[in-house]
Amino acid sequence: MYRTHNCGELRLNDLNQDVTLSGWVQKSRNKGFLLWIDLRDRYGVSQLIFDEKRSSKELFEKAKKLGREFVIQVEGKIIERSSKNPNIPTGDIEILVSNLKILNSSKTPPFTIENNTDGGEELRMKYRYLDIRRDTIKKKLLFRHKVNSEIRNYLSKLDFVDVETPYLIKSTPEGARDFVVPSRMNPGEFYALPQSPQTFKQLLMVGGLDKYFQIVKCFRDEDLRSDRQPEFTQIDCEMSFVTQEDVLNTFEGLTKHLLKSIKNIEVDKFPRITYDDAISKYGSDKPDIRFGMEFGELNKVTQHKEFSVFNSAELVVGISVPNGNDFTRKEIDKYVDWVKRPQIGASGMIYVRCNQDGTFKSSVDKFYDQKDLSDWADLVKANKGDIIFILSGNTNVVRSQLSALRLEIAENLNLRNSEEFAPLWVTDFPLLEWDEESQKYHAMHHPFTSPKNEDIDMLETNPGRVRANAYDLVLNGNEIGGGSIRIHDKNIQSLMFKYLGFSNEEAKEQFGFLMDAFEYGAPPHGGIALGLDRLVAILDGNESIKDYIAFPKNNSGKDVMIDAPSFLSKEQLKELSLSLKK
Ligand code: ASP
Repeated sequence: MYRTHNCGELRLNDLNQDVTLSGWVQKSRNKGFLLWIDLRDRYGVSQLIFDEKRSSKELFEKAKKLGREFVIQVEGKIIERSSKNPNIPTGDIEILVSNLKILNSSKTPPFTIENNTDGGEELRMKYRYLDIRRDTIKKKLLFRHKVNSEIRNYLSKLDFVDVETPYLIKSTPEGARDFVVPSRMNPGEFYALPQSPQTFKQLLMVGGLDKYFQIVKCFRDEDLRSDRQPEFTQIDCEMSFVTQEDVLNTFEGLTKHLLKSIKNIEVDKFPRITYDDAISKYGSDKPDIRFGMEFGELNKVTQHKEFSVFNSAELVVGISVPNGNDFTRKEIDKYVDWVKRPQIGASGMIYVRCNQDGTFKSSVDKFYDQKDLSDWADLVKANKGDIIFILSGNTNVVRSQLSALRLEIAENLNLRNSEEFAPLWVTDFPLLEWDEESQKYHAMHHPFTSPKNEDIDMLETNPGRVRANAYDLVLNGNEIGGGSIRIHDKNIQSLMFKYLGFSNEEAKEQFGFLMDAFEYGAPPHGGIALGLDRLVAILDGNESIKDYIAFPKNNSGKDVMIDAPSFLSKEQLKELSLSLKK
């Protein structure tokens, strides 16, 4: 038997027990005649003591030679510590060792295995198995497990069935590039790894399973942005005989359950906002609503004077920063410079100070009087003591600039509290999105999303305005999930493919299987997928997802530990009927 107890569970009331423990040597302290070792396993740390007087000489000498991260097994008696450590649960006791067995030796680790390590990210990733021994990472993986099991239990109780769908499939156009896998047995042919199990979950509904879920890996060969992984995990779900309302309620329930069971936080009914409103109020389809600073549109009250910058703008729009009148001139200038950086690209910014005495002082006092400024203050809901920042120009551009500024200010004012959770639904997304590059409409969500009944006629006349039965779940400014009510009628699906620029042949070639299935009694259905990696990170109060993934890829999509991706041998390439042409 390797152990009778783990290294985290022994307490004062276990005194005098004989125990066997196994674990790693975290560190040792040698006082000459006394030697202490911190022994670590997944559950905690127990202190071992070797005493020249009470231990045999041979044992003492053996213990002195133990290096960091040696794997050992010890037998001994639990005794009370003379100087206790209140910082760890096992801090009142230590184990007087009577027997020591070295189970494995270890090279000196390339970085310290402590909460705050001296290892940089690249080094930690190369030796990820050592990194995982650190409490910081281990706790995140355990946290993820907890979220995972809450999700499984919750959905299983609601009668969702967990079904595995294949990883070797055919390309589905969901916006990103596919990772492909050559087929040895079918020379020249390739599988694709799923960007999501979208079509399969729909087929499971045709198969009558009624409610499906899967915690599933998805693969997207996108240009990597920081904190995006080429393979990531979704909580993927689909339901039959449901309206949008049913799907929203079910997954609002799941999200509430997670907040309650994991964070002990109760949240009210999630607010809902349409896509159009989100864009005009926050300049974003994933607004962070932990704080206010909603946009106020100011065209009507700014374009009646001689200020040509505003007069020539498609949109004049402002936000009011709470207590922003406390900003010094220097701080204001810093924000003006911030929006003028190339990444944001504004040509300038107007501000209005709202004084405590009810008067205003602006950077455009030459053009506007107190009455004008007071009208602006009303529209951006400014209070005394606030400052109003105003941008103007092309509607879409200006909205996204002001959205970025809103987040930047909130960050600086500590309004983005990671222990506060503000979920909301964004609904009524546009069905289609114009793509400048291909000069075509693309499905904004995916081609299986149904248009709103009342908008179908506009598909011919004004496709860009057609709204979809599509929704996103947003948490603290992050899109954590999205889904839609699907098309379940073959004719509408064909029509949809037509509007998306597929010829009949292309549609049949790529989606014949789905269209065929729709001819055999497809039930009305809809669903959603939540991004598990991000959800877990946010629930744990973090923005970065990497440490919630046991073996993540780096920002160039590489796994530096196993050195992937890597080249294949000539033999392997040949077997796969592939050749590398120079
Ligand atoms: N398959 C979709 C996605 O990955 C989610 C859904 O529509 O259910 O975004």
